[in-house]
Amino acid sequence: MHIISTNLLTDFTEKIKKKYDINMLKQFKADLHIHTCLSPCANLQMTPSAIVRTASEKGLDIIAITDHNSAENVIAAKKAAEGTGLTVLHGMEITSAEEAHILALFDDSESAIRLQEIVYQKLMPGENDTRRFGDQIVVNEKDEVLGFNNRLLISATTLDAYSIVSIIHSFGGLAIASHVDRDAFGVISQLGFIPEDLKFDALEMSPRMDRKTAEHLFKEYNSFAWVSSSDAHYSKDIGRRDTSFFMKEPSLAEIALALKNIDGRKVEWE
Ligand SMILES: [Zn+2]
Ligand SMILES: [Zn+2]
Repeated sequence: MHIISTNLLTDFTEKIKKKYDINMLKQFKADLHIHTCLSPCANLQMTPSAIVRTASEKGLDIIAITDHNSAENVIAAKKAAEGTGLTVLHGMEITSAEEAHILALFDDSESAIRLQEIVYQKLMPGENDTRRFGDQIVVNEKDEVLGFNNRLLISATTLDAYSIVSIIHSFGGLAIASHVDRDAFGVISQLGFIPEDLKFDALEMSPRMDRKTAEHLFKEYNSFAWVSSSDAHYSKDIGRRDTSFFMKEPSLAEIALALKNIDGRKVEWE
C-alpha cells in the first residue's frame, strides 16, 4: 500500500492552487501619477472628468490622481469614472521637508482626507501666488468650479521622508518614491541615495527613463519594486507611460501583492 505523506499532499495542493491563481491573473494598465487643475503647475484643462475620458480613450484600466499636497479633486474623478470601468485611486504627491516628492495611494477617500489634514497642518504657511504658480482649482465631476485652494500647495511640508512613509503606511496606503531618476524633487536627488530603512513600496521612474537604462543606472536599488507613470500635467501626457500589473482585480490590495510578486503577480513596464 502506498502512503502519501500529508506534507507531499499539501505541497501538491499548494502548487495546483498557485497555478490556478496565476490563471486568474489579468493584465491591468495603470498610470499612477496624474495631476489635475488643482496642482498649480498643471494645465487648467486637466479637470477630473477630462482626465477620466482621456485615460479611458488611451486604454488605461487604473489611474491615480496625485495632486501636490492635496486630494481635493480625487472624489470628483472617482465620480466621473463611475460606470466607465476605469478604477481611480485616491492619491497625493507629498513634498517632504527635504523637497523629495512621495506618492501616497489609497483606495478609500477617508484615508486620503485624513492624510490631507496632516499635510495641510505641516505645509508652509502663506497663500498661493496665482500669477507666479498658477490657479489651484477644485471642481466637481461635471467640471463645475467649486472653489480655489489658496494654500501654498507648491511648497514643502515640514514632514521628513521617513515620517511621510510611516504615516502613509499607518493609514493603509502605498508609498512610492516619485521620479527617482530626475535631477530634482526625487528622493535620490534630495537625499543623495535611498536609505534601506526607508520602506517605500516602490520606486517610480519617469517616462524619459527606459527599463534597460534604469537597470543599469539603479541596479543597487533592485530590491525595491519599480513602476513608471506619466506624471501628466497636460492632457496629451496621460498614459504616455504606463505600468502593467498582472493581478486578480484592480484594487490597492492587489497592487500591493503585485509589487511583491506574490503568487505569480507581477509588474511590467518598458
Ligand atoms: Zn513630482
Ligand atoms: Zn507629479
